Amino acid sequence: MPVSVAIVGSGPAAFYTAAALMDSGDDVCIDIIERLPTPYGLIRDGVAPDHQTTKNIANKFEKTAMREQVCYFGNVGVGRDVQLIELREIYDAVVLAIGSPEDRVLDIPGADKTGVIGAATFVRWYNGHPDFRDLAPDLNISTAVVVGVGNVAMDVSRLLCLSAEELAATDLPDFAEKAILQSPIHDVYMIGRRGPTDAKFTNVELRELGDMAECVPQVRPEQLPGSVEGDYPDRDKRLRERNLETLLQYSQAAIEGKPKRIHIEFLAAPVEILGGDRVEGIRMERTRVEAGRAITTGDFFDIPCGLVIPAIGYRGTPIAGAPFDDDRNIISNEDGRVEDGLYVAGWIKRGPFGVISSNRPDGVAVAGHIHDDFEGGHKARNPGREALREMLKERNIRSVSFDDWKKIDAAEIANAGGTRPRKKFVTIEAMLGVLDNS
Ligand code: NAP
Repeated sequence: MPVSVAIVGSGPAAFYTAAALMDSGDDVCIDIIERLPTPYGLIRDGVAPDHQTTKNIANKFEKTAMREQVCYFGNVGVGRDVQLIELREIYDAVVLAIGSPEDRVLDIPGADKTGVIGAATFVRWYNGHPDFRDLAPDLNISTAVVVGVGNVAMDVSRLLCLSAEELAATDLPDFAEKAILQSPIHDVYMIGRRGPTDAKFTNVELRELGDMAECVPQVRPEQLPGSVEGDYPDRDKRLRERNLETLLQYSQAAIEGKPKRIHIEFLAAPVEILGGDRVEGIRMERTRVEAGRAITTGDFFDIPCGLVIPAIGYRGTPIAGAPFDDDRNIISNEDGRVEDGLYVAGWIKRGPFGVISSNRPDGVAVAGHIHDDFEGGHKARNPGREALREMLKERNIRSVSFDDWKKIDAAEIANAGGTRPRKKFVTIEAMLGVLDNS
């Protein structure tokens, strides 16, 4: 009898886990259970729409999904349609790969004003996630402030400043493309509370700003140190030096005749969002860095703006039936082990850090634990898939198979037209409608 494994979530951590389980050589039967009809998590809803080559990793995940041992159950919400405790009764092992879906909270006065939109929300809006399609952010503004200098801040700042031609090569949904195209926005401030050599963005993403059609990055030369100070491991130091070199180039570049600017500003922490019900500006406080920490100086300045996007990191949320570590916003675990038969992988295991392939070792670790805990299959005892099918049938839950997803996928690609890779369906009804009509 194979070891029955349910993986909750269908992002990179889920697919790396499924692949590692099959690589283990054990007899396994793997079900990937996803709340949306569409698979791939952050590949579809997080990776920027102008980074289509990054999304190609989905081709590899597709091969995993099509392996004989694997079955995809889309449109099945754990905690909504079935409970974790029920999955644990019918599967030998349950792996939670549910990511960190929420924004870390920017805890300053005025952060609840209209026009303050966390990056996790904003990114899913422009990526056409069904839950966020009605966000309708007001982009009838001239200036936006993005708080944070990580890769998400970079994505959001860049997206706001893409040209019509650049947008036309993305899979941005129509409503987002229209809002960005019609926006009179010309200045985006991306602000780090620490110094230029502490920025979290990576160099490829930083250099991309220099190649934009209608936008130039701006950096104030007086903010840049002559060299990277501090005791860092060699590789880390090299990465910081590379960023510093690129920032130096940007600080020296003549302002070309491009209409939009992304100002990369350092050494300033957000203090208060200004305005009435709506955002009218943000108050910042100058900082200096001591021992790697931002120290406030009592020196304040305001930036008038109509939109503030905190891009200060993501946050995991609890799921009923699993112990949660409120300090770290992850499910409590020891290298992926939660309790007997319950495991975690990806951001909900270790926090929201790293690139797509950083999830691979999590999958390998979980596969190792499952191999050990079920003695290579000798201790398998639960029916898994057939029991889930029965449960969904009893509850009248319409699950979406991987073949169904491929039909939705084909329809999105067929609807694309022109230079677009696809035109996403942005409602569950429209996705299921494709299946009704096929
Ligand atoms: P991140 O890399 O952790 O960056 C968060 C930024 O927010 C940092 O600059 C941080 O500053 C700042 N911050 C945190 N709390 C703050 C506060 N209270 N006030 C002001 N600033 C604050 O997180 P992320 O950008 O959300 O990215 C998450 C992960 O996804 C990262 O590993 C990222 O590399 C990855 N990702 C990769 C790509 C890509 O490869 N293209 C694209 C998107 C995301 P401090 O450093 O001072 O804390």
